[in-house]
Amino acid sequence: MSTLSINNLHANINDTEILKGLNLDVPQGEVHAIMGPNGSGKSTLAKILAGHEDYVVTEGSVAMNGKDLLDMEIDERSREGFFLAFQYPHEVPGVSNANFLRAAIQARLPKGEELDAVAFYKELYAVMDELDMDRKFTSRAVNEGFSGGEKKRNEILQMMMLKPEYAVLDETDSGLDIDALRIVAKGVNAMRSPDRGILLITHYQRLLDYIVPDKVHVMSDGQIIRSGGKELALELEEKGYDFLTKDLATANA
Ligand code: ADP
Ligand code: MG
Repeated sequence: MSTLSINNLHANINDTEILKGLNLDVPQGEVHAIMGPNGSGKSTLAKILAGHEDYVVTEGSVAMNGKDLLDMEIDERSREGFFLAFQYPHEVPGVSNANFLRAAIQARLPKGEELDAVAFYKELYAVMDELDMDRKFTSRAVNEGFSGGEKKRNEILQMMMLKPEYAVLDETDSGLDIDALRIVAKGVNAMRSPDRGILLITHYQRLLDYIVPDKVHVMSDGQIIRSGGKELALELEEKGYDFLTKDLATANA
C-alpha cells in the first residue's frame, strides 16, 4: 500500500498522445530514477502526477497509498503527501519564500492548530544552511529573478520543509554546476527515508553518481521500455539511448 503506483497510464495534450501505457511503482523507502531522451514524456508524467490541467488522462490510473491520485485536486495531492520539484519552477511574485512555505506547512496542520513560528524559522534557517542558501532568500518573492541554479535549490528547500511521502524531482540537476549539484544531492540523500519514495527524473547519469538509485527506468515514447539496477544508468551513459530504442524496434518488428 505504501507506494505510488502508476498503471497503464495514457495521456494526451492537444489530442496528441504523449503517454502510451506507462507502468511504474515507486514504493516508500526507495529512490527510483527515470532516464530518457528529450521529448519522451518525462515532464508530462511529472506534471500529470501533480495535477496539471492541460493534460487529459485517457486511460489508466495512479494510486498513492491506495488512494486515487488523479481524482484529487492539486492542493489535496500536496496535502496527501505528493511533491513535485519542477523542471522549470514557477515564479510567484509578491509572495515571500518564507510566507509561501509557512502557508504550505500551515495548510497541512489539523484544523485549529497554529504553526509555531519560532520553530518554523529555526528549521528553515537550518535547512537553508544545509543547502548553502543565503538568508536573503527568505524574504525574496518565490523564484522571482532567481538564477536557474537558485530556483532548483529552492525546490529542494521546499521539499525538505514539506517532507512529502512521495517526491518527484524533474531534472533538478539540469543547470547546476558541480558544487550546486553536490549540495542538492546532499539534500536529497538526507531525505531518503523508509517513509518516503523518491523519483528522480534526469537526462544524465551524472546526478546518479551522487544519488545512487535503487532502480533505474528508461522511458521512450511515452512508455518505460527497460528497468534495472543502478548499473543500467552506466550502460546508458556508455552506449547512449539508441541501443535500447533499436532493441525495441527489433523486438517489435
Ligand atoms: P521530456 O520531459 O521527456 O523531455 P516532455 O514530457 O516535456 O518530454 O514532452 C513530451 C512530448 O510532448 C514532446 O514531444 C513535446 O513536444 C510534447 N508536448 C509537450 N507539451 C506540449 C503541448 N503543450 N502541446 C503539444 N505537444 C506538447
Ligand atoms: Mg522534461
